[in-house]
Amino acid sequence: MPPVHYDTRGPVAVLTLQNPPVNGLGHALRSGIVAALDRALADPAITAVVLTGGEQQFSGGADVREFGTPKSSMSPHLPDVIRALENASKPVVAAIAGHALGGGLELALGCHFRVALKTATLGLPEVKLGLLPGAGGTQRLPRAIGLEAALNMIVSGAPQKAAAFEGTGLLDQVVDSDVVGAAVAFAQKAAAEKTPLKRLRDVTLPTAGTDAFLQFARTSVKAAAKGLPAPLACVEAVADSVTQPFDEGLRRERAAFFALMNTPESRAARHVFAAERAAGKLPDIPADTPLRPIRRVGVIGAGTMGGGITMNFLNVGLPVVVLETSQEALDRGLATIRRNYESSAKKGKLTAEQVEQRLALVTPTLSYADLADVDLVIEAVFEQMDVKERVFRQLDNVCKPGAILASNTSYLDINRIAGFTQRPQDVLGLHFFSPANVMKLLEIVRGEKTAPDVMATALALGKKIHKISVVSGVCDGFIGNRMVARYGAAANALVVAGASPQQIDKALERFGFAMGPFRMGDLAGLDIGWATRKRKAAEAGVPHEPTVADKLCELGRFGQKTGAGWYRYPPGVRDALPDPVVDELLTQYRAEHGVTPRRVSDEEIVQRCVFALVNEAARILDEGIAVRASDVDLVYLNGYGFPAHRGGPMCYANEVGLFNVVRTLSAFAAEPGAFDWWEPAPLLRKLAEEGQSFA
Ligand code: NAD
Repeated sequence: MPPVHYDTRGPVAVLTLQNPPVNGLGHALRSGIVAALDRALADPAITAVVLTGGEQQFSGGADVREFGTPKSSMSPHLPDVIRALENASKPVVAAIAGHALGGGLELALGCHFRVALKTATLGLPEVKLGLLPGAGGTQRLPRAIGLEAALNMIVSGAPQKAAAFEGTGLLDQVVDSDVVGAAVAFAQKAAAEKTPLKRLRDVTLPTAGTDAFLQFARTSVKAAAKGLPAPLACVEAVADSVTQPFDEGLRRERAAFFALMNTPESRAARHVFAAERAAGKLPDIPADTPLRPIRRVGVIGAGTMGGGITMNFLNVGLPVVVLETSQEALDRGLATIRRNYESSAKKGKLTAEQVEQRLALVTPTLSYADLADVDLVIEAVFEQMDVKERVFRQLDNVCKPGAILASNTSYLDINRIAGFTQRPQDVLGLHFFSPANVMKLLEIVRGEKTAPDVMATALALGKKIHKISVVSGVCDGFIGNRMVARYGAAANALVVAGASPQQIDKALERFGFAMGPFRMGDLAGLDIGWATRKRKAAEAGVPHEPTVADKLCELGRFGQKTGAGWYRYPPGVRDALPDPVVDELLTQYRAEHGVTPRRVSDEEIVQRCVFALVNEAARILDEGIAVRASDVDLVYLNGYGFPAHRGGPMCYANEVGLFNVVRTLSAFAAEPGAFDWWEPAPLLRKLAEEGQSFA
């Protein structure tokens, strides 16, 4: 298949882009467009040209498969292609269906006229990758729709439907169907009537009032951008469309584009983009693995997690049977689901009718017999192995052959759970995060015996319910909770060493975490960890050695829900307030453990907490628990509030340099009484020695 299909309809040449799935503007397509254009211009029988991707898809922009390869920088570059279209001597009409995004829209802006399907989506989303449109978008779009509208579109990166641009200089015609036919007719007429060719570069924008508007835009974008460089660079580039001659504007835009490419923020954003595309792929499970149909779902337990998990399926129209141990628990669980939907309806996100439609998909039950024909069951009962065992033995008895049996356990061994059934190949973990109807992350836990088609089905289902799914192997806490345990231990050791909870929280919040570990602990409830530590000590047959957090719990301070934890929360006050009781307790704890408090720097706080994550993640990778480093990043970004602009702990470690990470970890490990887990992981050491990164 040639990258551009050349066809004629009467005197009009139709150039159709053919680079599925999104007509990404890779090298072959870029050169193909110029070659086809030259052929049309050289043919005296041709009077006009239509550039299209057909009735489905114009172009989604750059070809991400060529990112970082030599082809991405081979000429013709996109600006060359656009210049060739714009300078063409015959009318060139873009026929837009599907998406015209990023470079795709810039390509269309180089054409003299544009005809779009009403449902087509147009946008310049580069800012979301920490960039700006680098092929004339910041100069041509304002000339098509005006300074303010273009600035909003480019700074937000939000795409819009074609219908919104009817009557603007962006679209000459908006049609309901047959966009190529309409564009051919438009082109033929333009040629016959010798309509002057509209080159956006020739438009001069009015300057009156723009100074004040741009000043306002700079101030508000700066406040919203929170230190990210791309949004402000977008404002400056759009400003150039008014204040600079066109060619100078283009030159500056291109320079700003390359400068942004080299920022850590853009590297992080592009890393996350690629990570999300890679996450659903497993090396040993082919993309064409047959899926098990999921038409009906069962959820066991209607508590905090069961309710949220149920909503995920109701939201996409899948019926759910919800099982509880008592009518009271069932009623309570369903009432919570209703309340959540009604609050969405109050905010205008759902209609009252949609609320009822979703609730009608729930079948509440107290009887396992009602699970006989579900295709998937997710268990979300208490986190105790004996309770899980009872549930899975019952599921094994009643569920039909081939039904997928999943556990939402946070820590427990999926292989043991699978062993409670006669069908371990059908068992896996589906670890949702709280609140399960909101949080994007889903850890799909692959047991030793989980069948490939069960994994493929779970990944497809994750997509269907709009989650970011990451596959984890079996270990205590899987990827995320295993890592967060080290992060928490590092933070706790820092308070013992001499830092205050507020200093640690502030340092990590300045680094970009939504919430520091102590405020987070108070929000989640300190009693959960206390119970776990006591249980683990009992299981291991060793005395429970209380941590500072345990001592807080012994005082009845479980966090926000009891009005006090690491901080105090007087009634009616939402902020976490420092508490002298905690300072007193810390002083006492240090004295009991022979610790002389020392000054801890904010830099050390960030290093200890974040490098603890990186080191544990390297072990997780080495053990094959995570498939790839970027999966770990997705877990941490989407489940634990790691700052998005840093691209996740592994991406951050790459930025710092693995050599430096290893050197710092080695210093921590060498301190007297250091935790043994500060010792740099073998994989980390190896990569650092080879001068490599996790990428
Ligand atoms: P929860 O206490 O809010 O809810 C558990 C529900 O299960 C209760 O309504 C209880 O009545 C019901 N239940 C108990 N035994 C049952 C049985 N045999 N049959 C049917 N129903 C039974 O607990 P939760 O926070 O929703 O946690 C549930 C599971 O999800 C646990 O395994 C937990 O580790 C895991 N998890 C929790 C979170 C979280 O943040 N809460 C996050 C991820 C995973």
